[in-house]
Amino acid sequence: MSIIRFGDGSDVYLICTYRQGARVAECCGCRLVPRDDRGMPTAAFPAFTTALGMCSHLDEHRKAGHEVPERAYDRTLERDAWLEGRDDDELGDVPSREPGSILREQDGPAEEEESAPLGGTRP
Ligand SMILES: [Zn+2]
Repeated sequence: MSIIRFGDGSDVYLICTYRQGARVAECCGCRLVPRDDRGMPTAAFPAFTTALGMCSHLDEHRKAGHEVPERAYDRTLERDAWLEGRDDDELGDVPSREPGSILREQDGPAEEEESAPLGGTRP
């Protein structure tokens, strides 16, 4: 779920996503991350588990002269409840990393299927 996208007065692209199972707001394609000579980012894009963490990151963008509209802050703060886990809104477009499947105990010892001998049986 995107908070704000590039364009329309925005030099930042923020999304809500999961990192190692934790809810984070990520500065996707962050222009503060140094690029190598092929233009590839040299580090992971910054991600924050709190809205305030992201807001201070947005301040860094502004200090660097990037355009960060006020609505980027507003929408980040709106996602605060989700980041803190108080809002169970699913993201929809991002698969949840939380364990959703119940491990079923097997009724008995797993029977090994008799497998066909490998190779050598072709005429
Ligand atoms: Zn950034």
